[in-house]
Amino acid sequence: MPNEYSAVPPLPPAQSGPAVGQSGMQSGASPASDTGPRRYRCPGCGASLEYNPVGGVLKCPYCGRTEVIPDSGASVDERSYEAYLQPSAAQMSLLAANALEVTCQGCGAKTVFEPPEVAGRCPFCGVPIVAQPITADPLVTPSGVLPFHVSQQQAQTSIRTWISRLWFAPNALKEQAQPTAMQGVYLPFWTYDSQTTSFYRGERGEHYYETETYTETDSNGKQVTKTRQVQKTRWYPCSGRVARWFDDVLIAATTSLQRNRLDALDPWDLPALKPYTPEFLAGFKAQRYQVSLQDGFTLAKDVMGQQIRTDVTHDIGGDEQRIHDIQTSYSGVSFKHILLPVWLSAYRYQNKVFQVMVNARTGEVQGDRPYSAWKIFFAVLLVAAVLFGLYLAFGQGH
Ligand SMILES: [Zn+2]
Ligand SMILES: [Zn+2]
Repeated sequence: MPNEYSAVPPLPPAQSGPAVGQSGMQSGASPASDTGPRRYRCPGCGASLEYNPVGGVLKCPYCGRTEVIPDSGASVDERSYEAYLQPSAAQMSLLAANALEVTCQGCGAKTVFEPPEVAGRCPFCGVPIVAQPITADPLVTPSGVLPFHVSQQQAQTSIRTWISRLWFAPNALKEQAQPTAMQGVYLPFWTYDSQTTSFYRGERGEHYYETETYTETDSNGKQVTKTRQVQKTRWYPCSGRVARWFDDVLIAATTSLQRNRLDALDPWDLPALKPYTPEFLAGFKAQRYQVSLQDGFTLAKDVMGQQIRTDVTHDIGGDEQRIHDIQTSYSGVSFKHILLPVWLSAYRYQNKVFQVMVNARTGEVQGDRPYSAWKIFFAVLLVAAVLFGLYLAFGQGH
């Protein structure tokens, strides 16, 4: 992994006091509860406005009128991790004043949306949702959102291109793949900031060379004595301390999609995060987080741990390193709950469903795919034939 975290903390690192500014979230959320859904009515024809990824505005699907989403002027706030471990009612809220929630019977994912959007099919497993939507439960309010930037049409084009470029895919895939309806979903993520201090114990290995004597038979069949340099390692016990500031360690808070596929959707342009306001939800769905704030931090510690091991290795120095033990303490931990946009689709091929997702900021496609057993078989055969040919051409000389 590239070194994406700075070794020095910014000034000052996040405070851990309970009075973390939530102005960004509240100034975005509270006016919506005053004026309610009226805010999303088209002033021209009264239809419901939807968030439009192309212009980044609310747009009427009928008469085309657009409304600019007012800039709250707030910044996306960091919150104290400790203050939210047992969130109070004041720290929880609805994604929108009239937010509804359904639980999929197929996969258990909880999806939040607001009228006129309907439950329809589960965006994660494609099963039609029959449960009645209920009023959404409050959740830890998102502090930031990356709005949809790639339109549904662009995402469909990206998927078609992706399918056409798949290696070892069955030839019929291009003609027969039937994409199911595509749904725009905001996925829940946590990001964590933390100052870390790590004490380690280990050993530093230093190379040295010894001269070794050996005998060899020369071309005349005579025994000759020669010497050579042999590399050895001498180990020295060592211990020390490394410190690093981590900024925005990103952890997916959904378990409905494979984590490795989600990770592969990186990079996300997190500096472009906007303070969450309910307007962004208009015409889209959002998933309720399935990974708790605490469990997310455990995953974030694993991510930080890899970087810390690299730091310890550098700190030990020498030619080789052994790490016996690392004890890390975390301080000034803060987090953000953010929503990131993906287009979810599935395509059917020979009665199997393959899940595909598109990063709605970059158009990057990740997904499941069928393999053609025949194409792989012939490719392996071809490689084997080439290797055998090389053996015949060059290998027999010896
Ligand atoms: Zn209209
Ligand atoms: Zn489902």
